[in-house]
Amino acid sequence: MSKTKFWINWSIDCEATQHSVNDAGLGLKGARGYADILDANGMKGTFFIIPKDAESNPDFYRSLTGRGHETGLHLHPGDEGYFEFAGVMGPEEQHELVSVAKDRWSQAMGFEPVCFCMGYASANDYTYGVLEDLGFRHGQVGLPGRRLPETASVWEGEPLYIHYTNRYNRLLPGDMDFVDVPHTVDIESYMWGGKHPQDLRVELVDAKNHWYTAYKSVMRQKDDETIPVKVIRGVTHNTFDYTDPDNFRRQTLLGMIDGIKNILEDADCECIPATVGTIVEKFRETVPKIDAKKLLKLDRRGYQGKKTV
Ligand SMILES: [Zn+2]
Repeated sequence: MSKTKFWINWSIDCEATQHSVNDAGLGLKGARGYADILDANGMKGTFFIIPKDAESNPDFYRSLTGRGHETGLHLHPGDEGYFEFAGVMGPEEQHELVSVAKDRWSQAMGFEPVCFCMGYASANDYTYGVLEDLGFRHGQVGLPGRRLPETASVWEGEPLYIHYTNRYNRLLPGDMDFVDVPHTVDIESYMWGGKHPQDLRVELVDAKNHWYTAYKSVMRQKDDETIPVKVIRGVTHNTFDYTDPDNFRRQTLLGMIDGIKNILEDADCECIPATVGTIVEKFRETVPKIDAKKLLKLDRRGYQGKKTV
């Protein structure tokens, strides 16, 4: 019998030039160190880059594709001259904002991005439609379980796993071309005062705590046939110096990579390093799009205490 396959992705938001950090040198060290660690461990990365980081170190970011990694657009609206949180904007404003950032990124990188990640996971029911209309095909937009209305980032009820998105409702799967590949989260463990589910964000906790989150996700997904493409995704930012052997985040990342490999081996599962784009290709081959109207149905079994059979 063949082993259950798990697609493992390591993402990084490259945003060290945003106004609150403003350190392109640190950003390059962070992203370069991260890429080197992934290469040394046979892993694949997705680098979500804000336009100014791309403009600051274009040669490095362009070289990542040749190393088997993926690059996409990361967007912090405040750094493009707009209000900080996209989730409170109408469709026209979001369209303009994403379009401006996409053009700037394409100028720096020499090609158009198809992969996207919104800063703060701040989005609303217009966002997926805007992204698809602007030619984006996949990315990370939702953050399942997050309840952070102060950044217009409310995602409780979003599917936990990879799915085609819905043009009219960000919390439901749908028949749009844009595929969202969320973080790996443990919705039983909340942080930030109950607002953010524990995820595999390197800087959130130490490697020991990440082990439990990864283990629970592998165990939940392993025998669940409703999840045809099983994914584990770790994430971080290029605001940490991943080239420095004494850096705690670097040590945590190395511990997480080992931990996830060991969990999969012990569970008799296959570890397939992949970019978000590769995972989405596999998903498109395997899974048809969904008409959400066929999924929705109120469960009336409890009405008048009726018997279920
Ligand atoms: Zn960001």
